[in-house]
Amino acid sequence: MVFFTMQLDDVLRVIEDSRDGIVKDMCSMIRIPAIGPFNGGVGECERADFIQTLLEGHFDSIERYDVEDDQFPGIIRPNVVARKHGKKNGTVWIISHLDTVLPGDLDKWDSPPYEPRVDGDRIFGLGTEDNGQSVIASLYGAKFFESGTLNGKSIALAFVADEETKSLMGIGHLIDLGLFSKDDFILVPDWGTPNGSLVDVAEKHLLWVKFAVFGKQTHGSTPNKGLNAYRVSSFFLVDLLERLKDRYSNTNDIFRPDVSTFEPTKSIQTVGNINTIPGYDEFYLDCRILPEYDPNEIMEFMRSVAKEHEERTGARIEVSIDQCTISGVPSDDTTDDYREFVASVKDVLGQEPISVGVGGGTCANFFRLVGLNAYVWQCGGGTLHQPNEHVLVSNIINDAKVYATVFDRLCIR
Ligand SMILES: [Zn+2]
Repeated sequence: MVFFTMQLDDVLRVIEDSRDGIVKDMCSMIRIPAIGPFNGGVGECERADFIQTLLEGHFDSIERYDVEDDQFPGIIRPNVVARKHGKKNGTVWIISHLDTVLPGDLDKWDSPPYEPRVDGDRIFGLGTEDNGQSVIASLYGAKFFESGTLNGKSIALAFVADEETKSLMGIGHLIDLGLFSKDDFILVPDWGTPNGSLVDVAEKHLLWVKFAVFGKQTHGSTPNKGLNAYRVSSFFLVDLLERLKDRYSNTNDIFRPDVSTFEPTKSIQTVGNINTIPGYDEFYLDCRILPEYDPNEIMEFMRSVAKEHEERTGARIEVSIDQCTISGVPSDDTTDDYREFVASVKDVLGQEPISVGVGGGTCANFFRLVGLNAYVWQCGGGTLHQPNEHVLVSNIINDAKVYATVFDRLCIR
């Protein structure tokens, strides 16, 4: 009897030859809606069950960490973990999320969001990029390594619920259960760049602030009889933006852009006609803040500027937090495991990726908040949460080859 163990080259070749299987599995998955109950869906169970059928027979163990939704009793939020056991401490994780956002305006889709359409190298459908790419690429990156051949770390793939809302019943739940350790290498492929050239190792704090300005409404011809809330908020906003820029002016070149940003975004309609002076105005700032600053201190500063404008104008200005997400410690990009990952990307794609910090938030932050390193990387991206979301099959194949190379370097050898 001859035992044949596949070497990395064989695995990479099999992945390249798996185009038909990849397209078939992606299309079958996209046909199963997986929208969380908060967004009006039934959850991710049916999709989780389907993915479990794809995993069966290829892993040493498949575990479920399902949890009942805390706001929608009776709806189960599934989490699937598939493992191949290694001989050493630590696990190489690839974390993908099962859920999608709502498709939005169906008229803007050229084909139905749940009926995948294959056009050349592209597969169109809701959830193809976000986060189907990672689901399928991690499966193909791992499945061809035979059990019992792992001399290094273990391999684990996690498919989690609840990413598009709060992640508490998905990745947060798995972290609470203690599934992860300092010996692990954790990839969260939920953001990427066309050639896989960037790795997200850090994120800015996110702070959304609401400003409500209370004046006194009056007729357009008699401004002296009222207090124009729009005028007050305009002067206040300009002053505030300039002072925020001066006060929080640090730069950090790992981030793109390399500064904290304070952008006025939403404002509401106040009066409906031109000849009424508004007695109320409301606007919002979207702030992406470098990790060294404290969002609470920034809130204090904004309130103090508001107070100055209250005293100067007689208006009342309420400043409140709409949302605040604190970012964890940036992930260490000097570890041996990270170097092996960078080398794997170079092996497959010909170029070493660069570590960057970004303004958006991903699941990786949940790990960083508990002191674990987590890295966000994949090829492509940019069509998520939009009509005609799609993924390139070639990107899935490249991702899978990179994952296989990482497994080979950290788990097999
Ligand atoms: Zn996502």
